[in-house]
Amino acid sequence: MNYYTHELLVVGGGLAGTRAVLEAAQRGADIGWISKLFPTRSHSAEAQGGVNAALCNNPDSADDSPLRHAYDTVKGSDFLGDQDAIELMTAEATQRVIELEHWGMPFSRCEGGTIAQRPFGGGGYPRTCYGADRTGHFMLHTLFQKYLSMKERIRLYAEYYVVGLIVREDTCHGLIAHNMHTGDLVVFLGRAVIFGTGGSGRIYGKTTNSYTSTGLGITLPYWAGVPLKDMEFEQFHPTSIIGKNILMTEGCRGEGGYLLNGNGERFMERYAPVSMEIAPRDVVSRSIQTEITEGRGIDGRDYVYLDLRHLGKEKIIDRLPGIREICLNFLGLEPISEPIPVQPAQHYTMGGIDCDAEGRTELQGFYAAGECGCVSVHGANRLGGNSLLDCIVFGARAGRVAGEEVSGKGVVREDALVREALEGKRKELEELFNRGGSENPYRIRDDLYAIMDSSVQIFRTRDQLEDALEKVKELKNRFRNIRPVWGGGTFNFDKMWTLEIAANLDVSEVIILGALAREESRGAHYRTDFPERDDRNWLRHTLARYTEEGPELFYKPVTITKWRPEERKY
Ligand SMILES: Cc1cc2nc3c(=O)[nH]c(=O)nc-3n(C[C@H](O)[C@H](O)[C@H](O)COP(=O)(O)OP(=O)(O)OC[C@H]3O[C@@H](n4cnc5c(N)ncnc54)[C@H](O)[C@@H]3O)c2cc1C
Repeated sequence: MNYYTHELLVVGGGLAGTRAVLEAAQRGADIGWISKLFPTRSHSAEAQGGVNAALCNNPDSADDSPLRHAYDTVKGSDFLGDQDAIELMTAEATQRVIELEHWGMPFSRCEGGTIAQRPFGGGGYPRTCYGADRTGHFMLHTLFQKYLSMKERIRLYAEYYVVGLIVREDTCHGLIAHNMHTGDLVVFLGRAVIFGTGGSGRIYGKTTNSYTSTGLGITLPYWAGVPLKDMEFEQFHPTSIIGKNILMTEGCRGEGGYLLNGNGERFMERYAPVSMEIAPRDVVSRSIQTEITEGRGIDGRDYVYLDLRHLGKEKIIDRLPGIREICLNFLGLEPISEPIPVQPAQHYTMGGIDCDAEGRTELQGFYAAGECGCVSVHGANRLGGNSLLDCIVFGARAGRVAGEEVSGKGVVREDALVREALEGKRKELEELFNRGGSENPYRIRDDLYAIMDSSVQIFRTRDQLEDALEKVKELKNRFRNIRPVWGGGTFNFDKMWTLEIAANLDVSEVIILGALAREESRGAHYRTDFPERDDRNWLRHTLARYTEEGPELFYKPVTITKWRPEERKY
């Protein structure tokens, strides 16, 4: 049998996983770093607009501070974020960003040479540090470069696809993975495991997420008994290009772009008279959707315009070159002279694996960081620029704690119980991949996309959600009768996707059930049948635990330190 053993296993080559690996290596841990993608191909490389830290470099942000950043984040979260974790994140933000600069990150610059900062939605100050509109790409390559200088302590297993956890006596002892090169199942043993497996946006058809951002990374621990938190809070980004739903960064509006409806009006005036286009995403997405629903989309259709023309050629080419390229390549449109047709699309998973500020979960030895985790710092609505920050702050924290815990303890050896776990997983997957039914799994996936795109949206009602739940249960029944498309071994993406679809169905069920139960409107969760926020009954986190019969919901209080909930006005 193929098995590998390390003191620490880190899954994920995105920003959270990479940052965790670097920190744990500095603590002397021997690390196995596993990723289904080569790290620099991870979704994080898609991030465009920037990362938040109160550096006070912009003349308009001279009196910014970590505490103001914390307040904006708490308010942005519609008071569902845990304030102790938020304060911690904003306090560490400057150190983490300066560290990136020292490691060679090519940030855009102010005239005096300091890191440039632009305004982002819901941030009271220009606080978002950026590298043009390719911030994620630059950050990921900077961290990967750092890894190259430390790699003797870190063994990278790229294109290994994790399919299960090895759990014994309520402790995680390792992983089972599919070696995509050979098609074999292999075992990874470790004293601790960190997941940085990213978001699960690909349960929607209309999403800005990469095809690889599926639900499996959060479903594996969920299936192993770890609760998921606040999954009903899906972020819809206001501006994705029509047809493709590729993101047009909030940086477009941060640089001064306008939103126009079919009457040529800057309609945000009616919804957020002070912040206008740089109100938080939940507010702007609802505003666009309202314009569209009430017939004020462009030519009465399902989109509005993002207008950059007044910014001028020089600024667009300097600050938003990637946006221009996307428009030219995917729409055949020149944003210097034409407005961009945009509509909201699923963008970010606010919920995730329930974990604390060190990434610890209920399962001993199992940690989570980045978009797959939920500390929670984003609450009901994430502010733009806070996710990259979440990855580098909480990735480092999980790496430090797990690294310290296991460093010097030596590796674990394989035994009969590990062999049993591997055999069990092999049988389970063989049964799945050899089902001889009549359903094409991809049809089931497409049907799931259609349900989530139509009924689990920016505005939700009880009837829509009940209907969606019923339909997802039907899909789960149909999934029992699948016939996977191809049974081959090496680089068999059909196998991967079959498992991803099983996970996506369970994730969707958790989202819908949480949304049905939450009879209020908060942040990105807007129930037209319960349009008010209800702090008396719903200022609490939703948790979902896996059972054979379906998710079991329970609740946890929100941590309040300084800021009592108040009305959100922008
Ligand atoms: C288009 C776009 C632009 C964005 N721009 C910004 C921005 O400007 N600022 C901001 O703050 N946020 C932004 N975000 C959000 C941000 O990019 C993500 O939240 C963040 O990059 C997630 O990083 P991560 O490390 O958690 O996950 P990812 O980068 O998604 O990495 C996940 C990793 O896990 C691995 N993996 C997953 N499952 C498995 C498995 N089963 N086995 C093995 N490996 C696995 C993958 O290979 C990958 O390496 C943007 C999001 C999108 C969609």
